[in-house]
Amino acid sequence: MKNFDYYQPTKIAYGCGRLSEVGKIVAQYGKRCLLVSVPAFPEIEPVYDKVKALLQDANVAVAHFDGVIPNPTIATINAGTNVAKAHRADVVLGLGGGSSMDAAKAIAVEATHEGSCWDYLFYKQAPTEKTLPIIAVTTTSGTGSHVTQVAVVTNTAEKDKSALYNDNILPRVAVVDPELMLTVPPKTTACTGFDVFAHAFESFIHPAGSPYTDLLAKEAMTLVVNNLPSVVQEGSNLEGRKALAWADTLSGLCIKSAGVTLPHGIGMAIGGMYPHVAHGEALALVYPEFMRYTFRSAVSQFAAAGRLLNPDQEASPDETAAEASCGGIENFLKQIGLWKGLKDVAVPENELDQLAHASMVLPDYKNNPRIAGYEEMRGLLQSCYASKR
Ligand code: NAD
Repeated sequence: MKNFDYYQPTKIAYGCGRLSEVGKIVAQYGKRCLLVSVPAFPEIEPVYDKVKALLQDANVAVAHFDGVIPNPTIATINAGTNVAKAHRADVVLGLGGGSSMDAAKAIAVEATHEGSCWDYLFYKQAPTEKTLPIIAVTTTSGTGSHVTQVAVVTNTAEKDKSALYNDNILPRVAVVDPELMLTVPPKTTACTGFDVFAHAFESFIHPAGSPYTDLLAKEAMTLVVNNLPSVVQEGSNLEGRKALAWADTLSGLCIKSAGVTLPHGIGMAIGGMYPHVAHGEALALVYPEFMRYTFRSAVSQFAAAGRLLNPDQEASPDETAAEASCGGIENFLKQIGLWKGLKDVAVPENELDQLAHASMVLPDYKNNPRIAGYEEMRGLLQSCYASKR
């Protein structure tokens, strides 16, 4: 067995009803809280009201920045930072999906450091311990952001999507209350659930994966495959929501320790250039071709996925089961309504060169078991282009 480290300081409060503890949790870290979320909509408004009441009951003064947009931008973070400073916030509470939790993390940095959050990307300066303490309440399953040291931000001017990456932005506490996810609409359920699968699978094939993350990844993939299709069909399925919330948390722990590979590098580039494409949808657009491209380079891991996706492969040799993972992922994407090509989400074919270059900016593709050069990357995107409607 290989040597490995595993470090995960975020306290996880998992289970139905755990939202009721959020006031007490936040009060352990500050008295002036910035609540960060997307604007209210009917399904989520009662949650916002409840959180504000819980904070007030715990004697925490709250200012609400509700200007987060999906795939939050530098401008989003800057607007939130202004509210944090005006309120003299000493703790930040991200409430929502990855966009809200990531925005909370980036605001916690920008409010305490010189310059913009974009100056603190993973290859620039490291955010320091001055970063405000962050509490995360996830309402999607999800990005794993509630347990990761990652905050994804979009630079609209440069059509670039990149990330802050530092232990100082790890949430102190992650509240994972599956009841909050009952209202997530089918498409968002599918996209976020597929992101969970992708986190688990990519950490499973990542060179920094370990016996620890492999264990978590296998469980997360199993939970997603067994539960996501039914929850997409019936969002009120609480048992399914519980399973997916746990899978999301496990996958987040995987990427915190291991990381992601080729599909996430491409997915981030798609998100930067075409912000209307949801993150999990971007992954779904590239997964079938990525699997076909890679399976021969990590046969045992692809075989495990192949057997999970096609139980009839249980007794097949590894090579056969690995190849079957490609058809298996296609069927799975069809079941959850994410069987699409780049053309179907209005990516212009004449921008594929630019997208290929952008897909090679983040180092993720270099952690794939098979490393693409530019021509291969371009070819892969061409294969992802055709309409599947
Ligand atoms: P999101 O946060 O953008 O939310 C998507 C939509 O779901 C929004 O319109 C939101 O209003 C809605 N929604 C959220 N919770 C809901 C609920 N309970 N009921 C009804 N509607 C609800 O989506 P996401 O996929 O969770 O996050 C995507 C972002 O996270 C992207 O920017 C992505 O790059 C980033 N990300 C971050 C990490 C990380 O480790 N930090 C990992 C993966 C992705």
